[in-house]
Amino acid sequence: MHPDRFDSWLTVDGKGLYCRPGGFHVDPSSAVDRAVITHGHSDHARPGHTHLLATRETLAVMQTRLGMQAWRGSQAVAYGEALQIGEVTVRLVPAGHVLGSAQVVIEWKGRRVVVSGDYKRSADPTCAPYELVPCQLFITEATFALPVFQHGDAGAEVAKLLKSREQFPERAHVVGVYGLGKCQRVIATLRQAGYSRPIWLHGALIECCALYESFGVALGPLKPATGAKREELKGEIVLAPPSAVDDRWSRRLPDPVTAFASGWMRVRARARQRGVELPLVISDHADWRELVMTIEQTGAEEVWVTHGREDALIYHIHSTGRRGRALALIGREDEDR
Ligand SMILES: [Zn+2]
Ligand SMILES: [Zn+2]
Repeated sequence: MHPDRFDSWLTVDGKGLYCRPGGFHVDPSSAVDRAVITHGHSDHARPGHTHLLATRETLAVMQTRLGMQAWRGSQAVAYGEALQIGEVTVRLVPAGHVLGSAQVVIEWKGRRVVVSGDYKRSADPTCAPYELVPCQLFITEATFALPVFQHGDAGAEVAKLLKSREQFPERAHVVGVYGLGKCQRVIATLRQAGYSRPIWLHGALIECCALYESFGVALGPLKPATGAKREELKGEIVLAPPSAVDDRWSRRLPDPVTAFASGWMRVRARARQRGVELPLVISDHADWRELVMTIEQTGAEEVWVTHGREDALIYHIHSTGRRGRALALIGREDEDR
């Protein structure tokens, strides 16, 4: 192992990214002895690790979603707190992706690596903002790494939803959202826009909202949509997991306008294919501009890309004179699709 040769001490094995001098994996795809977990989405936070390290919020998310069997031993770490693990120093800093999401900062023999996990740079009232950490090696995601992806402003997208509600006061608006992160961000953005009516939730979303509230993220009045009378839901906003929106479940709603909040809604064909009438381009991942800007700002001389559309990003990285490498990690099925 040599500190200047990153691939000698950060390796990729069958379970993902492994830090040799620290003896741990980051977001491994299956059970390992020691794991550092960036955030609670299921493609990063898998069950069965012997020891795991994550933020308190991420541990709570994993407990809620995976239950008691999620791990054997765990350690909660606050943002910014430095820990010695084996020969390396590890810190978790905010990634701005969802509640508790973290970048993993690893230092060994004067070299610093940042494993970003999933991240975004745009404002989100439901989680701590992305913190920029200068480093020599930056390991980034690439979910939306094509110039066509520009997420725009979440407030402006939510304004479209509110306008549609005014236009169709007799109809319900059902918005497809992912349960961890997107759901709470859409609610909080509606509240920022002054929307104070109860927001109705599919049963699958209730627990995660309660978790956010327990960490001090105020979401305003929420009501369970299951069991509500059809009449009651006229003119109301109902949030549901994407699968429930196309399903029998939404047929109980009065003449629903179907919306979907996702970075993929930038692609009109995808919205049409899903039968989405009101696409809302809201993403918890960095868009092309944010990826390029973040790489530049870290000052990294080398950039590795974990998963996503890496070709265009690697091409861009090379064009700026940096070394770039696609890790093509397996098992990353983003929830934001
Ligand atoms: Zn994620
Ligand atoms: Zn992910």
